[in-house]
Amino acid sequence: MSKIQVLDQNTINKIAAGEVIERPASVVKELIENAIDAGATAIAVELKDGGISLVRVTDNGSGIEKEDIRNAFLRHSTSKIKSVEDLFTITSLGFRGEALSSIAAISQVELITKVKSGLTGIRYSIEGGSDKSFEEIGSPDGTTFLVRNLFFNTPARRKFLKSSSTEAAHVGDLLEKLALSHPNISFKFINNNQIKLHTSGNNQLKDVIYGIYGREITSNLIPILANNESIKVQGFIGKPIIARGNRSYENYYINGRYVKSAVIGQAIEDAYKTYMPQHKYPFTVLHFTINSDLLDINVHPTKMELRFKNKEELYLLVSNSIKDALSGKELIPTVTLGSNNEQNYYW
Ligand code: ADP
Ligand code: MG
Repeated sequence: MSKIQVLDQNTINKIAAGEVIERPASVVKELIENAIDAGATAIAVELKDGGISLVRVTDNGSGIEKEDIRNAFLRHSTSKIKSVEDLFTITSLGFRGEALSSIAAISQVELITKVKSGLTGIRYSIEGGSDKSFEEIGSPDGTTFLVRNLFFNTPARRKFLKSSSTEAAHVGDLLEKLALSHPNISFKFINNNQIKLHTSGNNQLKDVIYGIYGREITSNLIPILANNESIKVQGFIGKPIIARGNRSYENYYINGRYVKSAVIGQAIEDAYKTYMPQHKYPFTVLHFTINSDLLDINVHPTKMELRFKNKEELYLLVSNSIKDALSGKELIPTVTLGSNNEQNYYW
């Protein structure tokens, strides 16, 4: 008797889902990235039970065409790339076509979507990867995903979920990062009927920082704006007095994507070295715009790590612009030669 079996698609999807979807925050991340890629200017996230029983993500983006809805849930189906060459110039957050198939494999999904040109919207339900219903329904332009009972059919995975409040906290952290990455988009986060975060989408990064970190941090920021031929960096860094004991305030984004990068992290910390005691880490929110052909974002499925073609250039731009900002007059008590010769502290 032969012992080798080719796994059916449903089993393959369930296994693959484990790579992409670990907890409610991973569902939220994938759905928000899709909403951003769809051009949404307002995105709302609502959780019940920390997202374990319900994650709802609503956007006012492009919507999904009726004929594309079922395909969107197939593995490796994407509207964002056509061939491997496109990977080198990718500008969207998603491109692997794995998220919707993964989410649908391990939960009960309801999708309501309408494109601007559509007369009505469509409501589609899919559970554990199987079609449940597909019908026309009145709805506003854009897309709403309701993801219920995460891991209902994979109890082994469900066991690894933490308490509702811990899962909700992960989603909260994620939303802060996403709001900081896109100050031009209004984000609203509701947990157990309470609004936890609401940004205006007015494109003022400082307003988003204020909404998340409050007055103390916001009044101790130094703006950064620098560029070389291929890289632009802009945003805010914190004065050394608002340093922390861990790296959780070191945020930076490349082409709108929250990333971790050894080169950027090193450049930031080296630049602060002479201003900061040991084991203290700075506050930064920096947005990098880098030509996509100088990046390889295809390194890891969760896409937190990137490879650069021009590491040294990036290092120098970051460390020099931060050093310049820190050594600027804001930090140095300057003596004004005015009438009363008072010392003027800018911070
Ligand atoms: P990827 O984002 O890698 O393309 P996904 O599985 O996340 O793969 O999504 C599959 C496709 O479904 C996307 O390429 C897109 O065309 C469509 N889609 C998903 N979410 C949305 C949304 N909120 N608005 C419009 N289109 C969407
Ligand atoms: Mg996606």
